[in-house]
Amino acid sequence: MQPSGNLHIGNYLGALKNWVAIQHDYEAIFCIVDLHAVTEYQDPAELRSKIRELAALYLAAGIDSKVTTVMVQSAVPAHAELAWMLTCVTPFGWLGRMTQFKVKSADKETVLDGLFQYPVLMAADILLYQAAVVPVGDDQTQHVELTRDIAQRFNSLYGETFVVPETSLPMVGARIMGLDDPTRKMSKSATGAGHAIALLDSPEVIRKKIMRATTDSAPGVDFAVLSPGVENLLSIHQAFTGWSSEQMRAHFAGMRYGDLKKQVAEATVAGLDPLQRRYQEIVSEPGYVERILREGAARVEPVADATVELVKRRMGLFTAS
Ligand code: AMP
Repeated sequence: MQPSGNLHIGNYLGALKNWVAIQHDYEAIFCIVDLHAVTEYQDPAELRSKIRELAALYLAAGIDSKVTTVMVQSAVPAHAELAWMLTCVTPFGWLGRMTQFKVKSADKETVLDGLFQYPVLMAADILLYQAAVVPVGDDQTQHVELTRDIAQRFNSLYGETFVVPETSLPMVGARIMGLDDPTRKMSKSATGAGHAIALLDSPEVIRKKIMRATTDSAPGVDFAVLSPGVENLLSIHQAFTGWSSEQMRAHFAGMRYGDLKKQVAEATVAGLDPLQRRYQEIVSEPGYVERILREGAARVEPVADATVELVKRRMGLFTAS
């Protein structure tokens, strides 16, 4: 994830919670992509503190640094190095077709080259570790497809070098929509005060935001005609509690929206409480996060360097050995 904006319950229920669940099934690397964050201007001091905050949130959510690597992209120079080499096998037209680029560049007066190259850097993040599986949400599947295309093109031009990532592991987590506008995905970059619930929001703030969430003019929950706002509140409740659909129906059918919101708020407060407590413990131990990040980078650096060395040799670039 990018260390920009505030992580919200969409990031947690749609991605992070899922990562925690699968971390023991794979040899996993969770990367904090600060080089991707600077494809849009970031305040330097803020970026520095967001990197640490994001790492602490990964750990607080249950990412276990003993079995899993947590690292920062810019701490391993091979990411940027490989990205450059991959730009040299990536046709311009492929990048112009990327939906995320079109969306993010649409309202900008100046579109940075980094934003255009964003997916190539992401391909480098994946191919550097010869990753077989990439756990992403549906908004990122096009970039994983592109990564496959880049890997295949490189392999056919220069000989077998990269593992072509076979799957983008489907996210089983919920897709959470904005509380103020439930037709839009909850997003870190949206500005409305009532749009997202940040993982570090206090119980009071969580309650206030949920009580103000958009619903509709019906008096209560009717499972036959759920409006996007009510459906979203129910999804949030279900994702935090793990209730079955039958349980949800039995409990919420006919409930007035005010009561529904109170229960969703309490489920959210209770669901985030352990994470928030662990977060406070983690950040109050001086040097702890920094140590995890240093160890993470040191663990993966030999793999990353070996891939770059191999790519250089394949391409005929200068290598010392
Ligand atoms: P982003 O906030 O776009 O950097 O996304 C980080 C991760 O969280 C990605 O895996 C996304 O697919 C996931 N994600 C972001 N927003 C949501 C959302 N509203 N609901 C579910 N998953 C989300």
